[in-house]
Amino acid sequence: MRAVLKMYMVRLILVMLAIGIEASVNGQSLVVLHSPAELTKKTQQDPSQGLVDLATAVPHLKLDLRYASTHNFTGVRLYPKGQHRSYLRRDPAAALAQAAKELEAEGLGIWVWDAYRPYSVTVRFWEMIGDERYVAHPSKGSGHNRGIAVDLTLYDMKTGKVLDMPTEFDDFSESAHHGYAALTEKKISNRELLRVVMERNGFIKFQTEWWHYYWPNADRYDVLDIPFNELKKELRAVEQ
Ligand SMILES: [Zn+2]
Repeated sequence: MRAVLKMYMVRLILVMLAIGIEASVNGQSLVVLHSPAELTKKTQQDPSQGLVDLATAVPHLKLDLRYASTHNFTGVRLYPKGQHRSYLRRDPAAALAQAAKELEAEGLGIWVWDAYRPYSVTVRFWEMIGDERYVAHPSKGSGHNRGIAVDLTLYDMKTGKVLDMPTEFDDFSESAHHGYAALTEKKISNRELLRVVMERNGFIKFQTEWWHYYWPNADRYDVLDIPFNELKKELRAVEQ
């Protein structure tokens, strides 16, 4: 019964969004920006709202966008095939670039699995999984939808391989939690290395996923549902 109710809520929200009404859940309204032009307008008023292409901002970045392939926990491809650009808002992008510079001195680089994620993908996650332990509820929108959350690990610049971490990406077991101690010393020290550099640069850790970090003051940023292909066109137009 609860599952049926949840599905009904999701459909209701989608219908409301489709007809341009803000979804209102628990008295809080969720504004979703659908148009690249709206984002450009907001960015002109407040430059911190702008999305930044991580490949150009972050030195030595490796992108492994799992949702652009079937190699993810859903087994379904959710991003355009061959999607190879990833974005964060200006301030978290700059902080990630600074973290990369600090890691460079240790021969390490940043390996990103995901960052900005269009809201409609979060809705699809919910339709497939429907469990808040694993996916964000569409009534709230996620840090990824706001362009302020990043899923990442570290890699060794000499070998090009990822460091030995507690789990794989999107492993929802207890061993992915911060503070989980039944691990090798190496896994714990690598997890801590990532945590220290991210926190030093202003990110906040997520207790149940060692790979997920987010930027504070999420409320300053709207939930975005701009598809990757439109975003690319818009950013190019803004640069010109
Ligand atoms: Zn995440």
